[in-house]
Amino acid sequence: MQKYYDLSVKQKCVMCSIEKNVPDLWEPKYQWEMKGLLCKICFDIKNAEYNKSKTFCSTCGKKLSVIRYNPKRQWVLQGQLCRECWDSQKAKLG
Ligand SMILES: [Zn+2]
Ligand SMILES: [Zn+2]
Repeated sequence: MQKYYDLSVKQKCVMCSIEKNVPDLWEPKYQWEMKGLLCKICFDIKNAEYNKSKTFCSTCGKKLSVIRYNPKRQWVLQGQLCRECWDSQKAKLG
């Protein structure tokens, strides 16, 4: 079986179903856990949504202010933490 990528082939954006040439579509970031391709508009929307979702503490869900804390690598946590959660994680896990 031969794999052949025709760059003029059209594909649909997985969010709004608009049909575009594949080179004009964007691959979703791996953190979004999405399959398929996105048009530029949907990519930007998704990106903004994702960035917004990142402004909440990943442990208690509290909205984070400008100051936020990144978990230490060994905590195996995703996202960012508020001060209180960071402190309690630090006390628990070091
Ligand atoms: Zn779209
Ligand atoms: Zn928190």
